[in-house]
Amino acid sequence: MADWRLELNGHMIEDLSGTTFYKVTFPEFWEVAYREKNAFYQMIERYAKSHVESSNKGHEFLEGERIRHFWHEHCDLCYEKAMTDINCTFFVTDDLRHWICEKCFTDYKEQFNWHEKSAEELYSKI
Ligand SMILES: [Zn+2]
Repeated sequence: MADWRLELNGHMIEDLSGTTFYKVTFPEFWEVAYREKNAFYQMIERYAKSHVESSNKGHEFLEGERIRHFWHEHCDLCYEKAMTDINCTFFVTDDLRHWICEKCFTDYKEQFNWHEKSAEELYSKI
């Protein structure tokens, strides 16, 4: 049974068969990242700095937690938006490249044999 999410993204999602995802909730995931300066924070910081340098504006957004506004992601399947200051739950791979919303994860985890781990297990990796 195909739906529009698979029709648009079926090939990409096939490649994620058997993948382990970590269940993260915002804004907590951001709060930990900001405190620990972990890989998620560093990814945002790298992007923010290169963006500010290339456009030569927005320097004030590099200060403190304002850097969070440089980041958002979309569910790989349905494009639901993730932001650091919106309450939401997403499932992410440990390289932080693939983000799946809670609804799509629930709908497809059996079909694609996805494994679920906790955010705590991700913190030790990033
Ligand atoms: Zn989704």
